[in-house]
Amino acid sequence: MKIKFKIATPEKVVYEDEVDEVILPTQLGEIGVLPNHLPIVSSLSAGEILIKKDGQETHLAVSGGFVEFNNNQMTILADTAERVEEIDEQRAEAARARVQELLSQQRDRESVDFTGLAAKMERELARLKVARKYKGHKAGPQIKVEE
Ligand code: ATP
Repeated sequence: MKIKFKIATPEKVVYEDEVDEVILPTQLGEIGVLPNHLPIVSSLSAGEILIKKDGQETHLAVSGGFVEFNNNQMTILADTAERVEEIDEQRAEAARARVQELLSQQRDRESVDFTGLAAKMERELARLKVARKYKGHKAGPQIKVEE
């Protein structure tokens, strides 16, 4: 028994396949979904999505969105989503630094869109987390070697 999984953004279908398990960041915390799970309707938080299929793992960074699961079919509509190999770590780090700078410069101004900046910060941190954890390490998290 598999899960028919699909994740799409307004731009494209990011990943679509029949998979064994999906672990995803909902607003109530991280949940793991196996075939025959009860139906789910939830919003997603920024974070990491882990997809398992035939012993292989696929890692995605997601910025938020909406998930629906019913009858072994899962559909995620995400604001943005990238597979780990698509993530440009330097771009995410540059964007994170820009947001940090804006937040620190404009702390006193009423016109600042704190919600927008905070959301962008969460997006960039999710990309950085996934990229740093898995890039070039398909088998699992990077192991740091003490010098
Ligand atoms: P930036 O400030 O870095 O230009 P942005 O705020 O314009 O980013 P988003 O609105 O989060 O970016 O996303 C726009 C598109 O760019 C989406 O398709 C998203 O998947 C892609 N994207 C954004 N940042 C990255 C990144 N670091 N690596 C790969 N794709 C990215």
